[in-house]
Formats: sequence, C-alpha cells, structure tokens
Amino acid sequence: MIRITVALLIVCAAAAVAALAPDLRIVAVLVGGLAAVLVSATGAPDDRSHSPQPAAAATPVSEQAVIDAIAEPVLLVVDGRVRIANAAARALLGGHVIGEDVRLAIRHPAAAERLGAGGADGATELIGLGGRDQRVEMQVATIAPGRRLVHLIDRTTSHAAERARVDFVANSSHELRTPLAAIIGFIETLDDEKAGADAEVRNRFLSVMMKEARRMQRLIDDLISLSRIEAEKYRLPEMPVALGRLVEEVAADLRDSDEAARADLTLDLAPDVPMVAGDAAQLAQVLHNLVGNALKYGKRGTPVTIALRRDGDTLIRLSVTDQGEGIAAEHLPRLTERFYRVDPGRSRAQGGTGLGLAIVKHIVERHRGRLDIASAPGVGTTVSILLPPAAHPAILPTAAPDAVTIVSPN
Ligand code: ADP
Repeated sequence: MIRITVALLIVCAAAAVAALAPDLRIVAVLVGGLAAVLVSATGAPDDRSHSPQPAAAATPVSEQAVIDAIAEPVLLVVDGRVRIANAAARALLGGHVIGEDVRLAIRHPAAAERLGAGGADGATELIGLGGRDQRVEMQVATIAPGRRLVHLIDRTTSHAAERARVDFVANSSHELRTPLAAIIGFIETLDDEKAGADAEVRNRFLSVMMKEARRMQRLIDDLISLSRIEAEKYRLPEMPVALGRLVEEVAADLRDSDEAARADLTLDLAPDVPMVAGDAAQLAQVLHNLVGNALKYGKRGTPVTIALRRDGDTLIRLSVTDQGEGIAAEHLPRLTERFYRVDPGRSRAQGGTGLGLAIVKHIVERHRGRLDIASAPGVGTTVSILLPPAAHPAILPTAAPDAVTIVSPN
C-alpha cells in the first residue's frame, strides 16, 4: 500500500512538473511511467487484495516499452553506458550505441562534461549533432542512483523560425527607416529659409518626399497584408470563385491604371475551367502581384500573358508569363523569402517592396495550392499557381514549405 502511495505521489509530482515546465514534460512522463512500472512490477499480492486494481493497471510494463513509446530520441544510461535507446535515438545516433559509453554514443564536445561521471542534470545545446545545421537540446535527468535519462529534442525548426522572425523585424525596420530618413532630411532642408523660399527647389523636394512617403505606404500595406494572410492561414477559403472572370476584372483594372499593361497584357483563358473554392480578394492580389512583376521585370513591347487552363484532371493552372531578362537559377529558391530581391536597386526604383512573392506564396498555401516558378535567363519567366477545383478541396491537403516548385532549365 505504501509503495502504491509513494508511486502515486511520484506520478502526481511528475504531472505537476509537466504542467509547470513544458520542456521537462517528457522527463516527467518518463518518471511517472517508471513509477507505474515500479508499482506494477513490485506491488505485493496483499496490497492488491486490499485495493483491487483493474486488469490493465496490473500488466507489467518494462522500461524498454516506456522508452520505445516516445517519438523523440531517448536513452536510458546506466553507470555511464547506454542501456536502452529507442528507435528515434538509434536512427539519430546509430544502432551500435547500445552498451556504449554514452559520451561515445553522443559524440559531441558540448555533451561530454554533462554526460561524464558527476556531470550535473540539466540542458545543453548541441549544434551539429546529426547534421551540420541541426540543433539539438540534450536534457539529462537522474532517475535513480547510477541511472540517467537522456532526452534529445530537435530544435532546428524552432530555431530557424526564431531567426526568420528576428531577421524579418530587422529588415522591416530597415526598409521603413530608409524612406523616413529621406523625408526627414528634405523637411529639414525645406525648413531652411533659403531653400524653402525657392519654388523650384521646394517642388522638387516635395515630389521626392511624396515618392518616399508612397514607398512607405506600399511597404506598410504589404506588411499588413502579410500578417492578415498569416493570421488566416488555417482557415480554408470557401467561396466559389470563377478564375476566368477574376482575371478579366484584374486585367481591366490594370489596363485602366497602367500604360504598359494596356499595351502588353494578353489573356489566354480556356473556356471549360471549373470554379475554385477561394478568397476572391486574395486571388486578385496574387494576380496583381504576378502581373505587376511581369510588367516591371519584363521587356516593354513584348507580351505579358495571363493563361488559365486545366492541369490534368485534378488541378487548375493560372500562369503569368513574360519575355523579360529571366532570373538566374541560383536566385530561384529564395524568391519567396521576404525582402529577397535579385537586384535591390532595380526593385526599389520600380517601386518594389520585396514582399510580393512572399504574399503570393502565403495566399497559395492558404488555398492548399502550389506555386511554380520557371525562368530562363534571356528568355523570360513564368510564375504559375496550381489550385484544386471547388469540388476537390482536399487534392493538395497540406500547406507545406515545399508548396513552391522551382523549375530552371540550367
Ligand atoms: P519586388 O517588390 O522586389 O518585385 P517580389 O517579392 O515580387 O518583390 O519579387 C522578388 C524578386 O524576384 C524581385 O525583386 C525580382 O528580382 C524577382 N522577380 C520577380 N518576378 C520576376 C519576373 N517576372 N522577372 C524577373 N525577376 C522577377
């Protein structure tokens, strides 16, 4: 009875640790699990007669079974040697680790001290374990004299996400500060009586200030779009959208407002294309961004074609093709990164924010679609989005980072 009470207390303590410190959850689960092993394996018959247990609770559970049930790599180390390594640990470190000195099994300079005799329990970051860019957090906990659990948590993705967030904040601030600094500089100059009094200088400065203010406005609009799209990322758009009609509306808008669009924009719309389940405003934004890029980076006087057609039985392909300079192969994989530009000076001079394709990618992912970028230097670029028709919303089930396909002839 006492043993059961002690074990229950351990399980409760483990649950409390799990609630308070999410990072220690696995260790808490393990300690709880091992306490259960202790009860089921050693509980005396007279204990059971006083408080009958359900059959399932009395089934003995081995340490091996508890550790094997955990998806992340976990090792049980007894007197400095690996006694148990679950499948994930064997996949990461190799099947040979059983019986090895744990410092050889986890061959990493930062791990050696904590894993050695007398090493303290706690967490250590291991950079490069299992791959050059891999980041693994090693948690070591003593569970009984001479017995330690080593839990290896892959932090690569969360670290990369944190890096991307920090870079994004730094880049956004930099992009906003540049036009702001120009505007403040011109205001200060105009404030000087002599420069401000000259009508020609004043008008020239005001027009530059307006250009810079508009640049800030475009950037802020794109930043707001991006955060709205990200906030809705898991809400599947549901309204039926006729892409052919949407293309015609966007083309008419562009022809009204842009001289190059009036001259170069051509449509190639197949008649039998089914509707998609989508968000019409966001799909219009995709078209504006792609056609805007084709006009900016295409060659004046050559066609920019928006084509719409079925792609096999299950997809609809909407593509924008230009006959501009194209994009060199090494840039293609990075084009959908925020603020990535092949030629920053040219992008800025054309009013680009560096966020257009990042916005397109997020919208396409929200629609469970795919983005294809195909380009050949000297020939031109085709950017396509592939969407499932409304009747088949689950054809591309997940929005994953590999939802972008890069096609380069090189
Ligand atoms: P930007 O506002 O700079 O145009 P985007 O995210 O829309 O930002 O595009 C990123 C970069 O990709 C652009 O700066 C440009 O270098 C390149 N790019 C995009 N579309 C094309 C295209 N059709 N032809 C050539 N380069 C392109």
